[in-house]
Amino acid sequence: MQVRRDYYEVLGVVHDASDEEIRKAFRRLAFQYHPDRNHEADAEDRFKEVNEAYQCLCDPSKRRTYDMYGQQGTEGTSFGDFGFGGLGEIFETFFGGAFGESRTNAPAQGESFRLRATLTLEEAASGCIREFTIKRNEACADCRGTGCAAGTSPLRCPECRGSGQVRRTEQSIFGRFSHVVRCPRCGGAGTTIPTPCGTCKGKSTVVMARTLRVDIPAGIDTGGSIPLRGQGSVGSRGGRTGDVQVVVEVLPHELFTRDGLDIHCELPVNFSQAALGADIEVPVLGGTAHVHVPANTQTGEVVRLKGKGIQEQGGRRRGDQLLHVKVTTPKKLTREQRLLFEELAKTLPAD
Ligand code: ZN
Repeated sequence: MQVRRDYYEVLGVVHDASDEEIRKAFRRLAFQYHPDRNHEADAEDRFKEVNEAYQCLCDPSKRRTYDMYGQQGTEGTSFGDFGFGGLGEIFETFFGGAFGESRTNAPAQGESFRLRATLTLEEAASGCIREFTIKRNEACADCRGTGCAAGTSPLRCPECRGSGQVRRTEQSIFGRFSHVVRCPRCGGAGTTIPTPCGTCKGKSTVVMARTLRVDIPAGIDTGGSIPLRGQGSVGSRGGRTGDVQVVVEVLPHELFTRDGLDIHCELPVNFSQAALGADIEVPVLGGTAHVHVPANTQTGEVVRLKGKGIQEQGGRRRGDQLLHVKVTTPKKLTREQRLLFEELAKTLPAD
C-alpha cells in the first residue's frame, strides 16, 4: 500500500491553519495541478492528493477525526478513490465547470474486458477452446434500450428543454461565476422517462452474465492475445460497445523449453549409447518419436528432429525439436559391470 503524506503537508499549511488558509492553499494547488492545465506526469496524482487532503480538512468533523487518529480514522470514507469521472464531479462542484469542455451528452464507450488464459505448452502448440463468463451491460431487451415501459416514450426534459444543460450563476470560492452545467433533472440526456421500464428501471441497460467461447489459435505464445471486438459492455449515449481481449500466458513445461517455433529439451544417453550410437525413444509434443544418436556423440551435441517443433500461428512454418545430448555416468555399478569397466579402462587413452 502506498504511503500517504500528511494532509497538512500536502496543502503546505500548519496544523492550526484556519479554514480560510486551508481553502486558499487548496485553491492555489488545485489550479497548479489540475490535469486540464498541468500536463506533467504526476499532476493528476498530485491533484487527487490535494483534493483528498482538502476534502478531509475542510470538513470540521473529518478534520477533528483526522487530527486525533490520522488517516486511519478517515479510512473507509475513501476520499481518494475517485476515477476521472468522480474527479470531474468534485471539480465541477468547486469550479462550476470553469475548466475543460462540458461533457454533457457525450457518447461514452462501454466497458472493455481483459481476460487471461493460462495454457500448457501442449495447448498453446495445438490450439484450444476456452470459455469465459463475463458480466457485461447490454441494452435492455424489454424496452429495446429506451428505458421506457411498453407503450410509453421519453419526454423532452422540462427543465433544460431538451438541451441537457442549464445556466447557473453561483457564488464560488473564486467569486461569482455564470456557467453552463449538466441539467440536474435529466442528467444531461435532454429527456426524462415518465414511466420507467420495469426490467431495467429506466436505465436502458441490464447486466447479463455471458459465456464467451474463445478459439485460441495453435502456435500462440505468452503475451499473444485474441481480440473480440464489440463483446464488452454496450456504450451509453450512442457510444461504441466495449471490447474483450484474451491475453495468453503459457506455463513452463517440465521437459520442453520453447524458443520461437523450436522446442529444446535434454537428451540423457548413457556411456554406451553415446559411444556406440543408439536408437532412442524420446518425448515430443503430443507423443513420442524415435531418434538416432550417432556413435561417438559428446555431451552438448544437438540432435535435431525436423518438424517436431511448433506450428507457426496462422502460418505454415513449423519449428524443430532440438535434443541436447547429456552423457550420464552410472551412479552405481554391479560387480560385473565394474570388472568390465576396468577391462575397458585399460584400452582407453588416459587424457
Ligand atoms: Zn428496459
